Amino acid sequence: MRVIFLGPPGAGKGTQAKIFAKKYGIIHLSTGDILRSAVMSGSKLGKQVQSLMDSGDLISDTLINQIVSKRIDDKDCLNGFVLDGYPRTIMQAIAFQDLLVLKRSVLDAVFELKVDEDGLLKRIRTRVSDAFERGYPIRSDDDFKVFSKRILEFRKKSFLVSQYYAKIGLLKIVDGRADINKVALEIETLLSKGRDSRIKDMETG
Ligand code: AMP
Repeated sequence: MRVIFLGPPGAGKGTQAKIFAKKYGIIHLSTGDILRSAVMSGSKLGKQVQSLMDSGDLISDTLINQIVSKRIDDKDCLNGFVLDGYPRTIMQAIAFQDLLVLKRSVLDAVFELKVDEDGLLKRIRTRVSDAFERGYPIRSDDDFKVFSKRILEFRKKSFLVSQYYAKIGLLKIVDGRADINKVALEIETLLSKGRDSRIKDMETG
């Protein structure tokens, strides 16, 4: 199974992608996590992307496409994966679709979590104050100014990605405002509906 989770920063993509990956026994691939661990390790890649990430800018399509292409070739991705945070631009979406064709692979579904922007700001406030109270490190890009920029980046670039997947019939919209378990249940229902209609299409030719 290969699925993508789309949605603005703070919409709960990461949480839902993790739940989904665990449920279906597949790998959760967060491009943000991959890049953050590169930054932490001080690798060449980490040094290359740190300032862009800290300021809430996107890293280049070419670089992120290469990272994802290499990662999904790893053995642990053979059964499938949940992509979280990729693709984020139309160029990434097109490159990824070409890559799947090249690998004779297909996507099962693309879920987009919808949350209004006020709701997002509320969530990020809670995330930062929770982390602060527990003494956890606060992500440098969870700063409010940077966070607003990341939302703007999303609004500017990612709606084309949603449109792209809607056009090829893979997009499923999920109300991301409900509680975690309800959202997870809705995702499961949408996935099985998609499968049912594909089976019907095959039966009716
Ligand atoms: P995230 O944890 O998904 O919100 O990603 C954190 C940061 O990593 C983003 O603000 C970008 O700087 C970078 N990043 C993650 N995924 C991508 C992507 N698909 N394209 C470009 N930059 C990305």
